[in-house]
Amino acid sequence: MSMTVTTDALSAEERDAILQAVREFASTRLAPNALDWDRRKHFPRDVLVEAGELGLGGIYISEDVGGSGLSRQDAAAIFEALAMGDPTIAAYVSIHNMVAWMIDTNGTDAQRREWLPRLVTMRDLGAYCLTEPGAGSDAAAITTSAIPDGDEYVLTGVKQFISGAGEASVYVVMARTDPSTGSGNGGAKGITAFLVPADAPGLSFGPNEQKMGWNAQPTRQVILDEVRVPASAILGELGGGFRIAMKGLNGGRVNIAACSLGGAQWALDRAVRYVHERFTFGEALSERQSVVFTLADMATELTAARALVRDAARAIDEGAPDVAVQCAMAKRFATDAGFEVANRALQLHGGYGYLQEYGIEKVVRDLRVHQILEGTNEIMRVIIGRGVVEA
Ligand SMILES: Cc1cc2nc3c(=O)[nH]c(=O)nc-3n(C[C@H](O)[C@H](O)[C@H](O)COP(=O)(O)OP(=O)(O)OC[C@H]3O[C@@H](n4cnc5c(N)ncnc54)[C@H](O)[C@@H]3O)c2cc1C
Repeated sequence: MSMTVTTDALSAEERDAILQAVREFASTRLAPNALDWDRRKHFPRDVLVEAGELGLGGIYISEDVGGSGLSRQDAAAIFEALAMGDPTIAAYVSIHNMVAWMIDTNGTDAQRREWLPRLVTMRDLGAYCLTEPGAGSDAAAITTSAIPDGDEYVLTGVKQFISGAGEASVYVVMARTDPSTGSGNGGAKGITAFLVPADAPGLSFGPNEQKMGWNAQPTRQVILDEVRVPASAILGELGGGFRIAMKGLNGGRVNIAACSLGGAQWALDRAVRYVHERFTFGEALSERQSVVFTLADMATELTAARALVRDAARAIDEGAPDVAVQCAMAKRFATDAGFEVANRALQLHGGYGYLQEYGIEKVVRDLRVHQILEGTNEIMRVIIGRGVVEA
């Protein structure tokens, strides 16, 4: 089934039908392959195309370019359902959607028509290029330069840890167009976003990083060596790139939080099943109060996290003034809770939790990075703290 239905027109039945289709896709196309893809570090392009056919390449992208036109609240439920099949693939789909949304919202008509019909199918993929070797949390300190030359800009620099690099067709690259700015010197104001096609001369990629988790999606450096793009490749306004990057991240944080919920819920479900099957000292583990209390805490944490994620998604849908704080709260809480729940599910499995074939250790490895990327959870506290102190 395709999900091209407008949010306004969405009835509870339609919403249920969409989620049912995503759950079916996650359980039949992702879950059975997740361990194998992780082991082989295989990025399943063919399955992503199937996700595109289901409408997942442009979940909250406008319908005039083939997007599904759903709300952020629907998207959060969809990412949670996808992550129950494989958090790594769900997370890549979330980054791809973030890139598509940045183009949909900030792009000219020509840019939207050039990229979005292809991106929504997931035959073409997107990558978000902000982080650099010397600038992660302090993103306004990036040094990748974009120097004007006639009607063109010449981009030079290195982007670090880029998800989907080497596979994507379009790279949203944040680069410094005002060389008089830098770290601590109006850094954010001198940054512009550019749409760089994969075949641009001078663009190359580092090797696929060897990682703890997220093995089924590539992470590489993106190297820009005097890459020439026309001025028409600027996304949004000259000097407006940092604002675009941060707005994209608000949604990205909710999406990644939802992926943590899905991975953790899957691990909790496995733990509940296991404590009924495993007997120690003549009794099922489910008879032990300490075990039941552990499960109770896990379920409570996840339910609280889900409420924060839903509220933050609604804040984006409604354009709430404190949207950045709400997204940071949801990301901080849900990614911490998600990791802890998965880790406790591993503990409840004893030694078997440590074996690859049970799948729990993979989810623990995958969810760990959600506490680091799209802004570390310390940076989430910086954002929340600023909101609290300045309120
Ligand atoms: C698998 C993976 C995929 C990624 N994908 C992408 C991508 O697609 N695109 C992209 O642009 N980036 C991507 N990233 C980069 C990611 O967003 C950064 O790693 C992250 O923002 C942290 O930056 P850093 O690694 O430079 O750490 P640093 O900024 O060096 O931080 C190091 C530590 O210091 C803490 N810290 C830093 N500043 C403060 C402060 N002011 N107060 C308190 N603590 C602080 C941090 O929380 C962290 O614990 C990815 C990273 C990984 C690991």
